[in-house]
Order: sequence, then structure tokens, then C-alpha cells
Amino acid sequence: MIEVAMATDDERETRRCPGTTVAGEPCRVPSEMLLDSGWCLLHDPARGAERSANATAGGNKTAKRMRKGIEVGDLNTPDDATRITARLAVALASGELPAAQGRAALVAVQAWLRSWENAQDDLVERLSAEIARLKGER
Ligand SMILES: [Zn+2]
Repeated sequence: MIEVAMATDDERETRRCPGTTVAGEPCRVPSEMLLDSGWCLLHDPARGAERSANATAGGNKTAKRMRKGIEVGDLNTPDDATRITARLAVALASGELPAAQGRAALVAVQAWLRSWENAQDDLVERLSAEIARLKGER
């Protein structure tokens, strides 16, 4: 009986995780920390799914933090742009919105306004041409 027990102790001492470290060396996790599967917590293939689930949960947390902002409503008209710009200015001044996020939003609103103005210019040009054409037909 004693011999068997000793053999088991030897076996336990030589148990090694089959995994390898990032450096390519054998995993050196102490045998008493190995799971029943014989792998360490880090290398056990059965726990891979659990790990990626944790990683996904972390990603979701990050996404939630990044989604946090202020509600400004739709941006369809220059009046909307004016309202949103005013809202952003107050949010930035009060610290409700991080400076970088607020600046990014302001830049986006300005870009929207420029493209809206360009569209208006095109429209005015087309209407002027159309009016000139109609006058010419008379
Ligand atoms: Zn390991």
C-alpha cells in the first residue's frame, strides 16, 4: 500500500500541462494547479470556449462604454444642425460629454452642414438654369 501511495506521489510530481508558453517553452504551471484534465487553467482546450465567452463579455462592456453619449435626435435639416450644435456645446461645457467625443460630433455636424449647403447650391444652380430655360421658351 505504501509503495502504491509513493508511486502516486511521484506521478503527481511529474504531471505537466501539455501546453506551451508564448515563448514556445513547455508550460511550467505547478502540478498541484493542474485541472483534472491534466491541463492548466490557461491551456485546457475545453476551457477555450469559456475564455472567448469572457472575452466577448469584455468586448460588450467596451462597446457599451463607447456607445454612452447624449441623445441629440435626428439630423435632417439645418435647424437640426443648429439644435445639435447648441446641445453639444452645453454638453461639452458641463463635462457631460468627453471633449474628444464632443469635438468629433461637432466636426460631423459641420461636415453635414457643408454637404447640405453644397446640395443647396446645386439645387439653386439647377433651378436658375431651369428658370432661364423657361424664360427663353417664352
Ligand atoms: Zn499550461
